[in-house]
Amino acid sequence: MSRGKKLYEGKAKILYEGPEPGTLVAHFKDDATAFNNKKRATLEGKGVLNNRISEFIMTQLNSIGVPTHFIRRLNMREQLVREVEIVPLEVVVRNVAAGSIAKRLGLEEGEALPRSIVEFYYKNDALEDPMVSEEHITAFNWATTQDIDDMLAMSLRVNDFMSGLFAGAGIRLVDFKLEYGRVYDQNDMPRLILADEISPDSCRLWDIETNEKMDKDRFRRDLGNVTEAYAEVARRLGIMKENGPSEANEAK
Ligand code: UDP
Repeated sequence: MSRGKKLYEGKAKILYEGPEPGTLVAHFKDDATAFNNKKRATLEGKGVLNNRISEFIMTQLNSIGVPTHFIRRLNMREQLVREVEIVPLEVVVRNVAAGSIAKRLGLEEGEALPRSIVEFYYKNDALEDPMVSEEHITAFNWATTQDIDDMLAMSLRVNDFMSGLFAGAGIRLVDFKLEYGRVYDQNDMPRLILADEISPDSCRLWDIETNEKMDKDRFRRDLGNVTEAYAEVARRLGIMKENGPSEANEAK
């Protein structure tokens, strides 16, 4: 499978032109960044793990009727996805207080929230992704009221599904971030589908018994064993064998 020219390089992924119009190839890098790029590292094997974990979750979401950009995995580091017009928002769903909500509202990290909470952030590195309200989103035409309703409904459905999926693997889904993209169907009607990735880079995942962190907070907070924790998530989901991924086993 040949990929075309490089279109965009982000912090953790590179996007190439895909083999057919309307497709892209997403390449998962080992680079990790946090605190708006102030902290950086290369974590060997992270890209391979995130490619597999995201494939696993997106495939299951597709199968329960949540539309996603995922088409198929191509190799250890690459997946074929639908090209979308990205909505410039990060949609965060929270079940348990952690990270920025704990700080902002003075909540104890680990406190269960009274119900799942959905928040919107404007995707803009220079502004450090500020939190925005529906008023901002519609006033600046980032998305319509209908889009917001669709994102809320889809995000809560993804939350219910993923909470169960992870609970079955002994993992608490504390919070996560989603991104959406717009696609146009035959009749030129726009519709939103899930885009980007779902991985331990974009979720907070705690061991259900010990509350041990199994996500990017291990990198943000210098807890060590970052890729080992990601590999454990993959292992518990039944994706990887005990000894983790090996790029030597699969054609690049
Ligand atoms: N998140 C993300 N990308 C971002 C910001 C947040 O994937 O640019 C994820 C983060 O990993 C966590 C959730 O969204 O699972 C909520 O993050 P929070 O607002 O608490 O911010 P943080 O503590 O990461 O700064």
